[in-house]
Amino acid sequence: MLVLDGKIAAAAVKVTLLEQTQALKAAGKRMPHLAAILVGNNGASETYVASKVKNCEETGFGSSLYRMDADVEETVLLAKIAELNQDPNCDGILVQLPLPKHIKESKVIEAIDPAKDVDGFHPVNVGRLVQGLNTFIPATPYGIILMLEHFNIETKGKNAVVIGRSNIVGRPMSILLSSNIAQGNCTVTICHSHTKNLKEICLGADIIVAALGVPNFLTGDMIKPGAVIIDVGITRVEDATAKKGFRIKGDVNYDEACAKASAITPVPGGVGLMTIAGLLKNTMKAYQGL
Ligand code: NAD
Repeated sequence: MLVLDGKIAAAAVKVTLLEQTQALKAAGKRMPHLAAILVGNNGASETYVASKVKNCEETGFGSSLYRMDADVEETVLLAKIAELNQDPNCDGILVQLPLPKHIKESKVIEAIDPAKDVDGFHPVNVGRLVQGLNTFIPATPYGIILMLEHFNIETKGKNAVVIGRSNIVGRPMSILLSSNIAQGNCTVTICHSHTKNLKEICLGADIIVAALGVPNFLTGDMIKPGAVIIDVGITRVEDATAKKGFRIKGDVNYDEACAKASAITPVPGGVGLMTIAGLLKNTMKAYQGL
């Protein structure tokens, strides 16, 4: 059984990007720059943004982090986005989700210039993705595709099941896997909270992407021998024995899945690291121009 190690696959992406930034530096050019906006102080969001900023530094990118209080007015956030849209030194804009309830997420996403939308959530970029046009692919599905590519996982003609239909993971993942791309050409079934016979559907899958946010949901009896298992889930589960008081759990029962799968992503150390790799690649793409 192959462990799809995110550290290895993400490092490969970052090495290539670092070579590109070093070449830019040698040529006296400006570095790619990512601007991240963090509203409030959600613990998980703080961790994700800190990691994104750190990875920018490691890859030679510039980055700025703008913090706003949880009760910031929507207009203030929109004004910051408008300013960054106009800033010629800012290539990519990322607003860390989720946002506080009083701010309309769709309004914020649509305020970002599609040419700087490195999260790939703007409807223009989603439309381009659906049509198979050059676009910013949302970072997590993009990272998964990069992971499949790195480990030479054959996808053509396979049955893929995606559990979860969110705009940031499940839906774009299903579109990519069904697209006519190297790591696509699957026959895709997308499942959600109203899906019936999920176990039977999963048992027919050669590839399963679990992205629902329910720890240990995918158990061994739902997996066909030899299937490839991609675990997107990240849930903080309280654990008094852990240093931080919680542990990160994926959506897959890892030990049970290992007994059936031909390849599997660990949590942590799998898709999470690839998400950052996807974001960095998108930032370089924004710098170079779509
Ligand atoms: P979401 O809550 O927006 O969507 C969850 C989806 O799962 C929904 O479409 C829902 O219909 C489906 N679902 C819920 N319960 C189900 C059930 N019992 N059976 C079938 N489908 C069910 O979540 P999201 O933003 O897509 O994130 C999903 C998980 O992935 C979360 O744990 C999140 O933290 C994690 N995540 C990880 C990364 C990463 O980089 N690894 C990135 C984004 C999200």
